[in-house]
Amino acid sequence: MREFQQYIGGGFEQGSAQFDSLDPATGQPWARMPEASVEDVNRAVNAAEAAFFSPEWAAMTATARGKLLARLADLIAENAPMLAELETRDTGKIIRETSAQIAYVAEYYRYYAGLADKIEGAHLPIDKPDMEVWLRREPLGVVAAVVPWNSQLFLSAVKIGPALAAGCTVVLKASEEGPAPMLEFAKIFDQAGFPKGVLNVITGGPEAGAALTRHKKVAHVAFTGGPETARHIVRNSAENLASTSLELGGKSPFIVFDDADLESAVNAQVSGIFAATGQSCVAGSRLVVHEAIKEEFLTRLKEKAENVVIGAPDEMATEMGPLCTKRQRDVALDLIDRSVAQGAKLITGGQSIDREGFFFPPTILDCDKARNADSLTNEFFGPVLSMVSFKDEDDAIRIANDTKFGLASGVFTQNLTRAHRMIRAIRSGIVWVNTYRAVSPIAPFGGHGLSGHGREGGIEAAMEYTKVKSVWLRTSDDPIPDPFVMR
Ligand code: NAD
Repeated sequence: MREFQQYIGGGFEQGSAQFDSLDPATGQPWARMPEASVEDVNRAVNAAEAAFFSPEWAAMTATARGKLLARLADLIAENAPMLAELETRDTGKIIRETSAQIAYVAEYYRYYAGLADKIEGAHLPIDKPDMEVWLRREPLGVVAAVVPWNSQLFLSAVKIGPALAAGCTVVLKASEEGPAPMLEFAKIFDQAGFPKGVLNVITGGPEAGAALTRHKKVAHVAFTGGPETARHIVRNSAENLASTSLELGGKSPFIVFDDADLESAVNAQVSGIFAATGQSCVAGSRLVVHEAIKEEFLTRLKEKAENVVIGAPDEMATEMGPLCTKRQRDVALDLIDRSVAQGAKLITGGQSIDREGFFFPPTILDCDKARNADSLTNEFFGPVLSMVSFKDEDDAIRIANDTKFGLASGVFTQNLTRAHRMIRAIRSGIVWVNTYRAVSPIAPFGGHGLSGHGREGGIEAAMEYTKVKSVWLRTSDDPIPDPFVMR
């Protein structure tokens, strides 16, 4: 069994307790992970606080911080194949995806390296002749970053990158499911030359997460996960009054009009729901298709779904690997059973695959006769697509917006004016037109409603880690005239 260590105050440690991590492709333990105790959490936060106020970090210029982030980006790029292998082993995410995604994670750090010395304050044209007033943008302080199992290197990059660019320090709690890539990342981070304690990486479950997010020295909680956990996080933040950014789940509509390029739309829908075995917050999990092309679209989709290559996640030929946990598979089975009982028609998939590990096939449900089916409202976080057809544009908009989530959406049409109307009408943080699931460090990412609040990526994300200080400087040498008049 391989052993991993936590990273606190620049030191690597075994941790007072350990737990086994399972290989999702076999369901068997393969590594021992440190489990952070409340005491470990306290030490990590204290280390991050000490680093925040240390001259090595607090007095470092933004340009120098950017250079360290650039060095980190280089190290990630060099180590991307090794990190990809680890993420694949510990989470079951296929090697094709981890290889491409982790190479791109380096670009996120590079983006924030460049942004570090462009986080500017402002000078205000104040309405008083003897005053200079300007705004300083200052770092918030210690950031608690909490991530789920899927794409942890990516989901932590969009927190650590902007937080360090802004001058904050971070305690990252990796998910208790598949934390290996984050614990190995800590070693790479250590080589980049940041002062000790600027980043601390621990892992553990809800207890460690709660201790971290309610810690009185934490100024901001950056969370990615499910809405139920987010409610705990917000309650925890009542203890420290930390600000929060919440990147939660979705039930994103994938809308196809009858004038769409069907080949592109089918391919985008296949990757939009079955990539990452559906364990993607932006999964296009509600297909909203025009009634005139419903049958043709479903036929093409079913054929592609049934030909997805399911296999060992570490093989390059594999297109879909296992779900990360048995729990995810049980959730999918239960939700499918309920939805079929409510009148949804199973087009393909729907049952566990008979092999070891947590495999589940691409599944499509026709919900036209079950418009209130649970599968249209609940997030599966698995490879399950629920379809409804629409009559006209208004109908499509109504169906698309009939959700408590608001993360992403996709629109496939050749009609330019209609595309613009849809962009305006759909309530989601991201709209993709004639494409799906594209991301970039330059573009903000996030949602509203049950999908959370705050943005990751882009300049907006860096601003989330800063606070504004208003500075007033009197330029007159005359004595202050009347002490009882507000100036
Ligand atoms: P989860 O909410 O169960 O866990 C996420 C993290 O929160 C884990 O690290 C967990 O240990 C921690 N946690 C659990 N209880 C806690 C508590 N009481 N206090 C503090 N921390 C606690 O999520 P999951 O099931 O691991 O991941 C799936 C969810 O994540 C889905 O809903 C998915 O949509 C969402 N997600 C969102 C995005 C996005 O960017 N919007 C990306 C990926 C995943």
